[in-house]
Formats: sequence, C-alpha cells, structure tokens
Amino acid sequence: MDRATPHSDPLPAGDAARLVGCLRGARAGATVVATAGIHGNEPAGIEALERVFAALDTRGMELRGELVGLRGNLPALARGERFVERDLNRIWPLEGEQLPPVPGPAAAAEEIERWALMEQILAIEERARGELHFLDLHTSSADGCPFFTCGDTLRNRRFALRFPAPVILGIEEQLDGSLLEYMNERGHITLGVEGGQHHKESSVRHHEATLWIALVEAGLLAPEEVLELDAWRRLLAAASAGVPRVMEVRYRHAIRPGDGFRMVAGFRNFQQVRAGELLATAGGEEIRARESGLVLLPLYQGLGEDGFFLGRRISRFWLVLSAVMRKLGLHRLVGLLPGVERHPARPGAFRVNTSVARWFPLELFHLLGYRRLRWKKNVLLVSRRKYDLVH
Ligand SMILES: [Zn+2]
Repeated sequence: MDRATPHSDPLPAGDAARLVGCLRGARAGATVVATAGIHGNEPAGIEALERVFAALDTRGMELRGELVGLRGNLPALARGERFVERDLNRIWPLEGEQLPPVPGPAAAAEEIERWALMEQILAIEERARGELHFLDLHTSSADGCPFFTCGDTLRNRRFALRFPAPVILGIEEQLDGSLLEYMNERGHITLGVEGGQHHKESSVRHHEATLWIALVEAGLLAPEEVLELDAWRRLLAAASAGVPRVMEVRYRHAIRPGDGFRMVAGFRNFQQVRAGELLATAGGEEIRARESGLVLLPLYQGLGEDGFFLGRRISRFWLVLSAVMRKLGLHRLVGLLPGVERHPARPGAFRVNTSVARWFPLELFHLLGYRRLRWKKNVLLVSRRKYDLVH
C-alpha cells in the first residue's frame, strides 16, 4: 500500500458520508475514535454520535485531543440490514496477516467498506497526538442492558472498568476478524459497546452516556466540563443493576445459514441458565446449555453467525491475581510447564498438549494474558495478547 502522501486534511477526500463528526482541539491530547453502524441495522450509535457532536458544538466546548465519529457499513445502513454480502465485523485481518490490497471491481460491498474505513483509520493514526482509544458502538436483537467487551489486556481492562456497566472479556477469542481485535492488534486501547436493543431510544442514550464518559476518561474533557456526567454514569449503572461487573465468555454457538436456528423466545442478555436448559432448536434438534452460566447476545434476527454465547462471572480476586501475575512477568515462564512447547513458526505462541497438561490450561493462560487461538482435540494453541502492560 502506498502511504507516501500524508493526509494533512482531517478527512481523506471522497468519503465524506462516512464522517459523523471530527473535532480536533488546539491543545494536544488523546484521540477517541468511535465507529457506529458497522452492522447496518444498528443506527443507534450514529444517532448518539450526532447528538454528542451537536452538544459539543452548541456549547462551544474545546477538546484536548481529537474526537472522530465514523459510520461503518454505508450500503448496509442504507438498506437497514446487518450486511450486504459479508459481515463487516468478521473480515478484518487476524494477528500477523496483512490487509488485502485495494479492492477490485469484483470485491464484495464490505471489502470496499473495509478499505474505506482503513483509509480513515490510517489518517487518524497519522495525526494522533496521544494515545488512541477506539470504541465500536453496537446494539443487539435481544432486549437487555448495556455492556462492554474488550480483549483482556490490563490497559483495556483499566479503561473498560471506568464505565459503570458490565464488562465481558474474551469475546474476541470466539470471533475471528472483528474490527475491535484488529484495532487492538494495532496497539490501541479498545472498547466494544453494546447499547441495548436495536431501534430503542434507551440504546441511543446508553451510547451517548458512554461517549461522554469516554471523553472524560481519555482526558479530552475535564469531569467538571461535562455537567451531566454524574447523570450519565447513573443512567448506565441503573440500566445494568443486578448484572455481574465482569464476565468471561466460555462458549459460542455458531450457526450457518440454512441450519434453521431458532432461539427459544424470551431470553434476555445475562439471563441465568442451568446446564441442560433448552436454549434453541436447529433443524429439529434441541440445543441445550452445556454448562450453567449467563446467556449472552441471544440471536432474534435473521442475519448473523452467532446463535448465543454462554458466559460466567469473574471474581475480583481473579482480576487482581491476573494483574499481579502479569506484572511479575510470570507469563514468561509458561514454556517450563509440562505439556507446553513454543510454536515452531509463530513467535509468541505456545502449543499445549492438553492430555499432558491437566491443570486447567486455558484458565491459567487467560490469567497470564494469553488468548486461545484454537483448541482441537488435545492441542490447545494460545498466543499472548500484545500491548498487555504498555502504558
Ligand atoms: Zn453489531
């Protein structure tokens, strides 16, 4: 890719429809980038960004740093559908892969969208004067409270825990090619935001709350400059009352087009289920919970590849223990454990023979900041998340 021409304009030419807003303060500071409508049937985040930019403008507020709001999948947004040909949140390069070259005439609509978004992201990175915080705003087909997702690095975790709503760790292990994980791999602080159900005013409000809190927590505004800050915090806290503070994803039920997946009616996000409980049917077969836990993101719409996720609560003790272990550098010692060997071709990756390693290997690797890449039969492949300890 030719990056010889620096982008001196705040926005690369020819893609103005993608920009919800861009406000760059005279004073240097962090950058906050928010994408919304990566799924075309989820316009709530765009509405929230429009309201925040309008309020910043009306009040003449000066940022330290820069805020950019981007629309995600323009053709899918025009149709009000999740995607046109391919899910734009499943086609980002994985660790170590390169972004494909400029899309040709036969490219899928989402390959062109990916390219256009990347152009914006590169320009934003180039002019950033501080740390880049990336937020991806979504909504879901099922009813439920707002929550956040992030790859479990200590700095992502620290940022996510400043928002008074539940945080889910490890969803990126279950999904290949998400934009959030791609931005994480580029070294940015990332936060996935689920505002609530599609097309609900409350979901727009939850995204607004998140954006205002993000502006304060990333240092673009001082807390006293956002008059309603406490009200926004209370709004998120009240909407998620009674839900565990931090959870991890344990299982994803993947679906393929045509397998007739139907979620049993009435499940909400974070609803407690017991092992063996009937959750869905597909092609006449019953799909039951394989362990007790919380149902996450049950699918109640036509398009999508994730039927539901199962998660469980993470204790405060685990969070503190894992932070201490990583800061002590214990992750460097995993190669000494029985059944663990360095991957011959992938730097930073380990192969675990789980018929030898009978000590809850995935849980231990999570504790030390590794993510699961694959687990087939007796071979678990893990790699350490980049930028875990960077400040
Ligand atoms: Zn979405």
